[in-house]
Amino acid sequence: MLSKTVNSPSQVDVAIIGGGVIGCAIAYFLSARTDFHGSVLVIEKDPSYQRASTALSAGGIRQQFSTPENIYISQFGAAFFKSVPTVLACDEDVPDISFKEAGYLFLANDRNISALECNFALQRAHGVEVEMLDASALARCFSFLCTSDLRAGTVGLRDEGWIDPYSLLMALKKKARSQGVLFIDDEVIAMYRHDKHIQSVQLRHGGQIACGHVVNAAGPAAAQVAAMAGIVDLPVRPRKRMVFTFRCRTELPGCPLVIDPSGVYFRPEGDKFICGVSPPGDRDPDCTDFYVDVRIFDEVIWPVLAQRVPAFEALERGFSWAGHYAYNAIDQNAILGPHPQLRNYYFANGFSGHGLQQAPAVGRAISELITTGGYQTIDLRRFCFERFAEGKLVREINVV
Ligand SMILES: Cc1cc2nc3c(=O)[nH]c(=O)nc-3n(C[C@H](O)[C@H](O)[C@H](O)COP(=O)(O)OP(=O)(O)OC[C@H]3O[C@@H](n4cnc5c(N)ncnc54)[C@H](O)[C@@H]3O)c2cc1C
Repeated sequence: MLSKTVNSPSQVDVAIIGGGVIGCAIAYFLSARTDFHGSVLVIEKDPSYQRASTALSAGGIRQQFSTPENIYISQFGAAFFKSVPTVLACDEDVPDISFKEAGYLFLANDRNISALECNFALQRAHGVEVEMLDASALARCFSFLCTSDLRAGTVGLRDEGWIDPYSLLMALKKKARSQGVLFIDDEVIAMYRHDKHIQSVQLRHGGQIACGHVVNAAGPAAAQVAAMAGIVDLPVRPRKRMVFTFRCRTELPGCPLVIDPSGVYFRPEGDKFICGVSPPGDRDPDCTDFYVDVRIFDEVIWPVLAQRVPAFEALERGFSWAGHYAYNAIDQNAILGPHPQLRNYYFANGFSGHGLQQAPAVGRAISELITTGGYQTIDLRRFCFERFAEGKLVREINVV
């Protein structure tokens, strides 16, 4: 257990680099623990969050993953999201993250049916309430879909849907602050290490801060922050993802978040829809710009939408935006826990498009590591950084 040290800007027990949803969740869970008595500082270079993944996220929450760890993470996440109005309330302020529990529908054709069946079996074995529908059942339940080329689909019956990411971020931040966490608006530009320890972080404006533990929660900039600690091989890359909105004159009652076999996804958002697609690996370069290429909508997404939902043939495209996945280019899963040599340096990186929903479990997990030296609830040791060197990859195939 950590002892209480001087809680001043020049020295902290835990410095968290990055105040997005991951950094704020770690700060919240650490400061909520009764067995943690240290000081926690979150350093965020852009408190407007204009370019943070969290603020640009599509907000999806699902249980349908292909690895047991991600399922356990999601089960805790869903329970946490439902408890937000209670656990993140501050005095009279009751946060509302607008959890729409409308489900995810993964569709399969001949090409991906075996992966769908495999995932379905794994999900059911781990307690996920998911149902498999054949093509005729799909047509009955979701009459707006064209199912002629489909073999089956899996639909989550509970704990799936979407939330408002920014509201979650603000609620975590406010609650963490009320529990004593200090937030400063500055950029970490260097780290100083001695032997096997990070001793301090250097801020662009605010001098040096000595720290007992350092957490890298820098989202798409994780590799740059790791390099400051001398870690040159963190496989996290910024990969651009665009989100497009559109209107459709026909209502689609009971429409969940639908993932077409092509990878195109869509879901309702108020009186509109949002949609997107991840490009194939060979057309997905590292990218840090925010340029939206509407040709992706016109040439790739819209033809799929119009084929899958005949009512979408007459849609009207609206605004769009781009953000960045912190993409784990090796196995598309989180990278969590201490560095094998630098024992006071922790990774919370590489969420590859599912970090928003993983934030509660990741926040709790890192708080356990820092406070007790091990995972106490979900065993996430397989997500360690060493897995790359040891060849023990944990591949997530359900990346949307
Ligand atoms: C278009 C899009 C759609 C998505 N959809 C979903 C979804 O449906 N469901 C889901 O679960 N996830 C989704 N994600 C992924 C999810 O948004 C991210 O995994 C999650 O927000 C990661 O949070 P983070 O805190 O790690 O990163 P961020 O939110 O990017 O926060 C990192 C912060 O670190 C700060 N920072 C970086 N370097 C430094 C430094 N040197 N010093 C100080 N501060 C620094 C940055 O300013 C930033 O605010 C989506 C992402 C995008 C882009």
